[in-house]
Amino acid sequence: MSINLISKPIVDQELENLKNRCNKLKNSGIIPNLQVLLVGNNKASKIYTNRKKKFCESFGAKCDIHHLDENISVDDFINELNKISSDKNVHGTFVQLPLPKQLSNLEVEKLIPAEKDVDGFHPFNLFALLSDNKKNDYFKPCTPYGVMNLLKYYNIPISGKNAVIIGRSMIVGKPMQMLLTNANATVTLCHSKTQNLAELTKKADIIISAIGKPKFLNDTYIHPDQKNKTVVIDVGINTDQDGNLCGDVDFDKVSPLVYAITPVPGGVGPLTILTLSQNLLQAAEKII
Ligand code: NAD
Repeated sequence: MSINLISKPIVDQELENLKNRCNKLKNSGIIPNLQVLLVGNNKASKIYTNRKKKFCESFGAKCDIHHLDENISVDDFINELNKISSDKNVHGTFVQLPLPKQLSNLEVEKLIPAEKDVDGFHPFNLFALLSDNKKNDYFKPCTPYGVMNLLKYYNIPISGKNAVIIGRSMIVGKPMQMLLTNANATVTLCHSKTQNLAELTKKADIIISAIGKPKFLNDTYIHPDQKNKTVVIDVGINTDQDGNLCGDVDFDKVSPLVYAITPVPGGVGPLTILTLSQNLLQAAEKII
């Protein structure tokens, strides 16, 4: 039986920390303040932003969602973003993706000041990640950093291990590669053009899937000799043919073959919101 890497105990434990840190800030006259820009009517984006707001409020931070029209012009969008992110009472800002077509070429990451970029995608923050800046004075991308926290919580060794990441997006795969490399793993970053993916996953100690294909990774990707050794982290959030939420991994087929695995839901997802909140408090604490 594999270990079920659920995030609830991590979130519960860290929520107390967040409450304490938030109270300390409030005692110094600072209310941690997150401002979110949501453009259009993407259903999933509305759900995600509402979850983030609810979680921030649960530990005492302020969070507002600015819901902008689907057809907003580039200029109006930039003006709105500048207005919000230049407010000195705002400590963190992020833009919920995806953006509508007319805004899709904007380099939003560069429009938010690095010190308020709680999503961790500003070039300053990405360079700090790339160069393995040890000062910890930058923000790490939320989902990959959430995965690192999960591995740490469950005492899963990283140094010297072979990690295979599937998916090379800017928000998950690439920063995940950096974080694992900085933690001394040997990392293979796979994508849709990778040949013989199963050969690579079968050699992995840690597999991280972020591709967005329901139940893609099944038992044929796990080596039988690796039984009870492999750790599988499922970042995917998809719906199966019956409309149920599921990950990239076929949990029922893979779970009996591995040492540990994250479920969907209840695995990586809540950690993204947790990391965003940790980044927000880090941003607010910088001004004390
Ligand atoms: P994306 O959608 O931008 O890109 C998908 C990646 O998967 C690409 O790099 C592509 O090359 C790769 N890919 C596609 N098919 C493949 C195949 N057959 N073999 C190998 N690689 C393949 O990626 P994303 O934005 O990182 O999202 C991936 C998944 O993670 C989605 O389900 C998304 O909803 C989920 N996600 C979850 C969280 C969370 O908080 N848990 C956060 C971000 C994304």
